[in-house]
Amino acid sequence: MQVLNAPSQLSLHYLELEEKYGAHNYHPLPVVLTRGAGVHVWDIDGKRYFDCLSGYSAVNQGHCHPKIVAALTEQAKRLTLTSRAFHSDLLGEYARYITDYFGYDKVLPVNTGVEAVETAIKLCRRWGYHVKGIPEEKAKMVVCAGNFHGRTTTVISFSTDPDSNSRFGPYTPGFVIIPYNDTAALAQALEDPLVAGFLVEPIQGEAGVVVPDEGYLRLAKQYCKAANALFIGDEIQTGLGRTGRMLACDYEGVRPDILILGKALGGGIMPVSAVLADDAIMLTIRPGEHGSTYGGNPLACKVAMAALEVLKEERLTENAAVLGELFRQEVLALDTPFIKTIRGKGLLNAIIIDHPRPDAAWELCLALKDNGLLAKPTHGDKIRLAPPLVITRDQLLECVDILKDSLTVLSH
Ligand code: PLP
Repeated sequence: MQVLNAPSQLSLHYLELEEKYGAHNYHPLPVVLTRGAGVHVWDIDGKRYFDCLSGYSAVNQGHCHPKIVAALTEQAKRLTLTSRAFHSDLLGEYARYITDYFGYDKVLPVNTGVEAVETAIKLCRRWGYHVKGIPEEKAKMVVCAGNFHGRTTTVISFSTDPDSNSRFGPYTPGFVIIPYNDTAALAQALEDPLVAGFLVEPIQGEAGVVVPDEGYLRLAKQYCKAANALFIGDEIQTGLGRTGRMLACDYEGVRPDILILGKALGGGIMPVSAVLADDAIMLTIRPGEHGSTYGGNPLACKVAMAALEVLKEERLTENAAVLGELFRQEVLALDTPFIKTIRGKGLLNAIIIDHPRPDAAWELCLALKDNGLLAKPTHGDKIRLAPPLVITRDQLLECVDILKDSLTVLSH
């Protein structure tokens, strides 16, 4: 194996600080970043990298986008938080903006992605009781094996990943797990009249960019409609241009009954998430029944509007579609024995490593880092490659060159 660059003395100082004083709930690559701009980040020794993780797709608009930073700094000097005990002059404007943007009656604003998922679960159950007429406490939701919807106790209750949910029980009941990309299993699960909804990622991001068959989402939506169950699209990672459409569900003309957004809604600058639905669903929750201190704060409203504007003004969705195609073609053309396949849509892609060493994907990520590209393995042999959507064609081709050079680490 090639000898990889050891972290500098300065880096070691920061690595040790985190190790000593921070909880050990992550296993980061040994790189200490201090600055970002567009597709690039810099470490504390001044080395520049392509960021091919983009904060797990939160940085679609690129690091420190000037328009989003300006929105943030201007609003930060005016008013940042009112709580929902009072109105602000931005929440209504933001609500109108985002509901027009995605075509829903109402938005419920929250902070992190998992909070938005929890909100969608509560809305779905509430709709099940109030509208569908499911007996109290009996509502069920259908979810998919391999899902990732976040880390709260309820959400990990229906995870199938042992790392996420072992020894955190007891778990929240009421979830039925079926295989992903299996419409027959969904049809069968939906026969149960106690099912209020189906929660699904249009592409399973954390599972390693698992793309379902064409037609899966369309059929799933049809089945939900026929069974009077809600189709809930978790587009936290796939939404906002990442897959080459504004929403990954757009590929199949599917409009989720409940749409969950997060990550890039905050432009990589602050946590902003949202749940969108029409009145028949959203108005089943009444004042005092759900909320969050920071949800819908004026700073978040301003940042989210700027983040959404940038996506359209800079045609980032179109860029993701075109450059994503090119990227997959170029990676396939590398013709290396170490990449089993590349899969994805737009600029959400993963390469699957084929190598006898179990740590090969990690080794490759270390080599990529040494060569100026940051990416992180997921589930052992998969490496997600998802640069900010502001990446140019030349920059993308440079990333492919770095990948090609770095693969030599696996020949030794
Ligand atoms: N849902 C999906 C599809 C995600 O990819 C993630 C995060 O990766 C989440 C939910 C959770 O979001 P957060 O980490 O902001 O809570």
